[in-house]
Amino acid sequence: MKTLIRNGRLVTDREVRKADLLLEDGKILKIADGITEQDPIAEGAELIDASGRFVLPGAVDIHTHMDLDVGIARVIDDFYTGTVAAACGGTTTIVDHMAFGPKGCPLSHQVKEYHRLADGNAVVDYGFHGVFQHVDDEILDEMAMLSREEGITSFKVYMTYDYMLDDLDLMKVLSRAAREKILIASHCENNGIVNYNRQRFVSEGKKAACWHPVSRPDLAEAEAVSRLLYLARAAGEAPVYIVHLSSQKGLLEVQRAREMHQKHFGTETCPQYLLLEDSFYDDPQEGLKALMAPPLRKAADREALWQALTDDVLDTVATDHCPFTFARQKQQGAEDFTKCPSGAPGVEERLILLYSEGVCKGRITLPQLVKYCCANPAKVAGLYPQKGALEEGADADLVILDPDREQTLTIGGMHGAGDYTCYEGMHVNGVITQVMLRGRTIVKDGAFTGLRGDGRYLKRKTSSICTEKGLYEG
Ligand code: MN
Repeated sequence: MKTLIRNGRLVTDREVRKADLLLEDGKILKIADGITEQDPIAEGAELIDASGRFVLPGAVDIHTHMDLDVGIARVIDDFYTGTVAAACGGTTTIVDHMAFGPKGCPLSHQVKEYHRLADGNAVVDYGFHGVFQHVDDEILDEMAMLSREEGITSFKVYMTYDYMLDDLDLMKVLSRAAREKILIASHCENNGIVNYNRQRFVSEGKKAACWHPVSRPDLAEAEAVSRLLYLARAAGEAPVYIVHLSSQKGLLEVQRAREMHQKHFGTETCPQYLLLEDSFYDDPQEGLKALMAPPLRKAADREALWQALTDDVLDTVATDHCPFTFARQKQQGAEDFTKCPSGAPGVEERLILLYSEGVCKGRITLPQLVKYCCANPAKVAGLYPQKGALEEGADADLVILDPDREQTLTIGGMHGAGDYTCYEGMHVNGVITQVMLRGRTIVKDGAFTGLRGDGRYLKRKTSSICTEKGLYEG
């Protein structure tokens, strides 16, 4: 089956150019200016006219939490509803961060559990990051085995929460990861700072949502980012990936490492840290909607993160999609913010927010949009150029975006199972009119047209962060 997309403006991480795209059997067969239905190569192709529209690679979100069970609550999106939302927002690949399993379980316990949750349900292609809960020789061997045999080439560590790793365990993981060329993603917040504050605030009766950001200050992030980057160097230039960077102080540590020519690391931020601020917590009820870790920061932090995207200092924008219902689940924190399940939705909003607030406002270019939302996430996850690229031989995952239309974001127009969006009522430029996964249309004019279970599990290759030149090779 062939499809010919004519007259679109193709956007890659390097350029915008007018060209036609011929798709065959789920792959991009040919990209050239002036392919027509009369060309023998395009014989029998279904025609899509993309005049006046941008054609982007399907977006890649390497930080989601579908069907996440955090003990006190389970997110409302499973791998079906969550990936339908992803698809409608132009995301055709996710790499999901797993929940913790039972205490002491091997890494493969959660891998098995996540196949059970995702296989036959996901509607976009998907992979998993593994997750560490404890460290010993067996677990480290298992990491290497899962990387080789299951294509799980990245694992997450937490520097706070119940299953945090201390510096000794981090060194063990990082040293082995450096040898095996496995990427270690890290949640960077200093556990002592955060827990000291939380305990103190609760004992002083400071339990409203507005105390949440104060309890997790930017210093806690900066300290952990700095420590992770130094530990990675001490472990032999271990490849690391900082998830959800939220603050200017954290960013300074990233810039310092760059200046010291540390090559094998990448840094992610999220739309919420670019678009929202801690005043969101002023209203104790509304604030629960954005109760997440790290928390929303100040205007100066937002501006610093945008500037870092303008200047190519950050590497990816992912969502940390982790939706709990406002009506019920988030209310667990109504009397005490420390009891609120932490996380917010966002998988559907990312691409259009970054287009409207980033590209249309002149903060990033169209190629940077593709770099941050498509190409670099694919490179970090070891999926490039199968994913995140518009080139011959790549998967025919495409987003067609109409820049001449606009829309107002509202929960009624969204496709996940959640009951709110943090961007309710926000006016944005651009509308995603069509999304294709491996050559098949899965979203058309705002409606999901794909099928449950059509997403494929992706055995991933080595992250580009682990390669000789790091992420920016070639
Ligand atoms: Mn997360």
